[in-house]
Amino acid sequence: MHEIFTGNFTQQLPIPDAGIAAALEVLRHGRLHRYNTTPGDPGETALLEQEFAAWLGAKYCLATASGGAAMTTALRAAGVGPGVPVLTNAFTLAPVPGAIAAVGGRPVFVETTRALVLDLADLAKKAEMSGARVVLVSHMRGHLCDMEALMEVCAAKGLMLIEDCAHTMGAAWAGKKSGLWGAMACFSTQTYKHLNSGEGGFLTSDDDTLMARAIVLSGSYMNYDRHLAAPPAAAFEAAKYDCPNFSSRMDNLRAAILRAQMPRLDADCAAWTDRYRMVEAGLTGVPQIGMIRRPQAESFVGSSIQFLLPGQRPAAILAFVEACASRGVELKWFGAPEPKGFTSTHAHWHFAEAQALPQTDAVLAGLVDMRLPLTFSLDDCAQIARIVADEAAALPAV
Ligand SMILES: *Cc1c(COP(=O)(O)O)cnc(C)c1O
Repeated sequence: MHEIFTGNFTQQLPIPDAGIAAALEVLRHGRLHRYNTTPGDPGETALLEQEFAAWLGAKYCLATASGGAAMTTALRAAGVGPGVPVLTNAFTLAPVPGAIAAVGGRPVFVETTRALVLDLADLAKKAEMSGARVVLVSHMRGHLCDMEALMEVCAAKGLMLIEDCAHTMGAAWAGKKSGLWGAMACFSTQTYKHLNSGEGGFLTSDDDTLMARAIVLSGSYMNYDRHLAAPPAAAFEAAKYDCPNFSSRMDNLRAAILRAQMPRLDADCAAWTDRYRMVEAGLTGVPQIGMIRRPQAESFVGSSIQFLLPGQRPAAILAFVEACASRGVELKWFGAPEPKGFTSTHAHWHFAEAQALPQTDAVLAGLVDMRLPLTFSLDDCAQIARIVADEAAALPAV
């Protein structure tokens, strides 16, 4: 008798009651726009920025309409425009090269290691070859590269680092939080990330000039003085005349929903990692499965788990994914020939120049990915692992 999992891989936790109450309050007073404030009320968005900056340990924070908007704003603040090369991971999700393309930039893809992170030797090589001054590193699926070594490459090659922390909100390398390494960092609060406002994001920085530019670029008009996590007014003197307005603000309704989630964020991150460890334990030791080793220095948030099926033919992997699906376990395969749902690869991004990435292709050919929503119990995770291990054991030995 085959066991079947009946949970939903895309079901999130409800918004806390305090968030529902705060959202209703915003709806009642009607001041949804972030700059629609009153003397006693700085607005939910400005308060959220202050709280997120404090949680992260960053000086400044700007809330945005999406993670993608945070990235385009960061790239523009860094001076990326038409034709400018930007180094980024070949293994990431479409909004990352999409943000580079959106500002007219040219994505230059960097190879992926078997640990699913940026290949730093290839980064150094491509920095030389492309003449890029900016690297947008995507901590894809929560995997952090050796951040100290990355900082050394950035210093040696004169690269400004922007972090895409869509999957590393709550993660750290050597005790320093993801988002505090780069000149700027971008976060997403889209439903499938670590905070949920449907759509939304953050851009954080300690740099006065970059943050002043970002705030004006995000569509602040001349309301930058209503921000609580922003540089002093003097920092805006150049930005307010130089930077165009690309409306990409967060609103007070979303901010109200997010503020109520901040107190539970750390506990949620720990709960994700408990789920990850449960699935990891259940898959370890299956000969057909190649686990991704997590470095000692990395403290990650296990909101998804990845593994490799080395040496398997595409048809066998497809059959495995379908067999798991028929038992209720939803897996994504990065080696599929066609993009599907949220999953696509550099080969599908025809808006970027085609690039040879043999090492990345070899990794992605056998890469399987699974979401672990907090609505799963630890028992659910153990069952999921049993089903995946069972189906993987049916694959040819390699
Ligand atoms: C979701 C995501 C983003 C962008 O977030 P949106 O809020 O959906 O625009 C960026 N990078 C990665 C890796 C993501 O998964």
